[in-house]
Amino acid sequence: METPITVAYGDGIGSEIMRASLHVLMAAGAQLTLETIEIGEAVYLRGHTSGIEPESWESLRRTKVFYKAPITTPQGGGFKSLNVTIRKTLGLYANIRPCKAYMPFVHTHHPDLDIVIIRENEEDLYAGIEHRQSDEVYQCLKLISRPGCEKIVRAAFEYARANDRKKVSCFTKDNIMKMTDGLFHKVFDEIGADYPDIAKDHWIVDIGMARVATQPGRFDVIVTPNLYGDILSDIAAELTGSVGLAGSANLGEHVAMFEAIHGTAPDIAGQDKANPSGLLMAGVMMLVHIGQPEVASRVHNAWLKTLEDGIHTADLYRDGLSTQLVGTCDFAEAVIARLGQTPQTLTPVSYSADAKPFSTVPYVPRPPAQRELVGVDVFLDYEPRQPSLLGEQLQNAASGTALTLSMITNRGVKVWPHGFPETFCTDHWRCRFVAATDTHLSQHDVMAVLHQVLNAGFEVIKTENLYMFDGQPGYSLGQGQ
Ligand code: NAD
Repeated sequence: METPITVAYGDGIGSEIMRASLHVLMAAGAQLTLETIEIGEAVYLRGHTSGIEPESWESLRRTKVFYKAPITTPQGGGFKSLNVTIRKTLGLYANIRPCKAYMPFVHTHHPDLDIVIIRENEEDLYAGIEHRQSDEVYQCLKLISRPGCEKIVRAAFEYARANDRKKVSCFTKDNIMKMTDGLFHKVFDEIGADYPDIAKDHWIVDIGMARVATQPGRFDVIVTPNLYGDILSDIAAELTGSVGLAGSANLGEHVAMFEAIHGTAPDIAGQDKANPSGLLMAGVMMLVHIGQPEVASRVHNAWLKTLEDGIHTADLYRDGLSTQLVGTCDFAEAVIARLGQTPQTLTPVSYSADAKPFSTVPYVPRPPAQRELVGVDVFLDYEPRQPSLLGEQLQNAASGTALTLSMITNRGVKVWPHGFPETFCTDHWRCRFVAATDTHLSQHDVMAVLHQVLNAGFEVIKTENLYMFDGQPGYSLGQGQ
């Protein structure tokens, strides 16, 4: 029985690699009904700021499976990234990116590289909430949620179990971002305890990535927030020999999207030079997902045999390792010619009938924490670079209210009280007001202090309430506290 899927040919090399990949999948016997939608640059330029026509969502909703070529995100503030929009709108929270070395047939310094990066796909700095707050300072909000962390961490452990992987490593920067990345790490420890059969460790992302680049054999499955995963998966794919080798699955509870990890490669577009392998391997993941594992195995093994026979696109071609330099179309024909064959040196694959990347375990909300308002951070655009003068004026402004000024920071560095004269200051100040006595604060108390600050002539650009959750501060304490 044929499975309907939605297909988009994208921009740049997209149409070349999509045609090649579909040609191989169909030749291998994939049972697919294709619904084609148009996405990308042309759609953006027709005035759809998110790069997709409203009707196309209907196709995605109907088929629930999206095979997508890369697209260009036009520059300019008016456009939204379609990739980010699709992943978030359809709840595709898990981005699974396997990266593997194919030595001795594809040159790499790391023959033992065989890792799967599980990138959180909906949150982090990709929320796209950015503001210019003052003449000098711009802000991007990093949003990390408990459900987001729980879903992706559980997905990583479930993936490891389902795919006979032995270890899951978590990469964060929780030594600096103690609340956001700290939550990701904490959830990793909590959920990891449910998987005693799988080894686990945590790495600060900078040294973790450095070790992936030098000793990738130490890693198996890596789970990490969105931005780190984006960067790490390009590095890992490139380490295998080419960014053109890696495919990815974007999985959610309802819809799944399959794509190469690379972009539109405008420098080689339209020249029949692109390596279609990343999109083809994404197609293999799609076949497993829709229950056609035998076809997936046929394609994957024929592709391995093609690499093994030294038939390589320009990104992989090396004298001594390669036997034939081919373009996109001829590479696809070479894979088709090897359908039914298995590699001799590389390990053949065999996807089983019940193979699933992971089972989706629904998120169960926890009882909400007790929340208590204890203060407010008031952000000011203030030109004079004189923290002591600012401190004095704000102390005066708050007198007679239920709050008192406790500190002022500039880009996170405490400048009042007892600041250092050497500290460089911008026009962007965070001024923390906390309860003056042990009394319980209300929103009205916060409004009252804000009113006084405005009356004193300050430009308030933003406020953040300070809460305790179950007696624990729900805010960073800042220096000197
Ligand atoms: P890119 O991945 O398109 O290209 C980086 C380099 O890798 C280039 O030298 C390119 O020639 C090479 N390369 C990439 N894929 C290849 C392949 N299959 N075969 C051979 N060589 C390949 O990255 P970029 O240049 O930073 O981005 C170009 C455009 O793609 C941008 O508009 C970006 O927004 C977009 N992009 C889209 C996606 C997506 O749709 N999922 C992902 C990343 C980037």
